[in-house]
Amino acid sequence: MLIDLHSHTKASDGQLTARELVERAANRQVDILAITDHDTVDGLAEARQTIIEKDLKLTLINGIEITTNWLNHEIHVVGVNINPQHPALIDLIELQKEKRESRAIEMGRRLEKAKIPGVYEAAKVLAGEGAITRAHFARHLVEIGVAPTFPKVFDKYLSRGNTGYVPHNWVDIDKAIAVIHQAGGQAILAHPNHYNLSNKWMRRLFTEFKQFNGDAMEVAMGQQSPQMRLQLAMWSNEYDLLASQGSDFHFVGRWRDLGKALHLPEIAKPIWSDWPSYQLLAEQQEEILQ
Ligand code: AMP
Ligand code: MN
Ligand code: MN
Ligand code: MN
Repeated sequence: MLIDLHSHTKASDGQLTARELVERAANRQVDILAITDHDTVDGLAEARQTIIEKDLKLTLINGIEITTNWLNHEIHVVGVNINPQHPALIDLIELQKEKRESRAIEMGRRLEKAKIPGVYEAAKVLAGEGAITRAHFARHLVEIGVAPTFPKVFDKYLSRGNTGYVPHNWVDIDKAIAVIHQAGGQAILAHPNHYNLSNKWMRRLFTEFKQFNGDAMEVAMGQQSPQMRLQLAMWSNEYDLLASQGSDFHFVGRWRDLGKALHLPEIAKPIWSDWPSYQLLAEQQEEILQ
């Protein structure tokens, strides 16, 4: 059983359309896929439509990845099995969208001051109808050659403390968890080891995430050392959080792919262990969409 609970489409900073994404997942024998775009659920309808039209053997989980504020850190919270039409969720998405838009404009201003004009406009074209993210800025900045790679462009221009970085004011993490619950979903702390936190701060994050009624944390990711995976599994047990897994797929690359290298260590308790049955879940979700 191949399960991938973290992926992106063109609705945010993924490079495949929702249609292409589910086709790829089915071709790669993924059984269960969650689409979790940054602060939007816009890819879900097209994905579900494609699955029905092409009769794909794939269960789609409605998801989202919400960028949140925790003690001034930007922390990502994945919601799975959400009702994408829940009013509280729709309100939150609307707020985040406004924040993304005004941040993007300000990023453009700051880069322009640093003699790199037109970046907001170009990022906007790359984002199209989708949620605008720093990844769109990064793609353009790499295209015009100001830095050779994504990580370098983040290091030089887009991460905290650099020219194009704008201090954030995302929704608070406890509020995001509460909204995911209101929408009927489970809240997963995404990629805990990607925030540059010391172990002490990481432990504080696990403690507070649990206190805020968070359900799970990501343990298995596509590219990760076995030691890190085991460490995350042990933390998930210690903090009484369920374990999730996901590729965080954005585009077809050399190392990362849908469903690739995803499995949980024995000691971890999977988030899907008390899901009713995958098929039943899919049917419930189709009813919600109708
Ligand atoms: P945003 O949510 O607009 O702040 O954009 C964050 C997105 O940029 C992430 O979801 C990644 O896709 C991408 N990203 C962030 N940091 C890096 C990095 N150091 N290298 C490559 N991509 C990154
Ligand atoms: Mn992204
Ligand atoms: Mn993320
Ligand atoms: Mn992601």
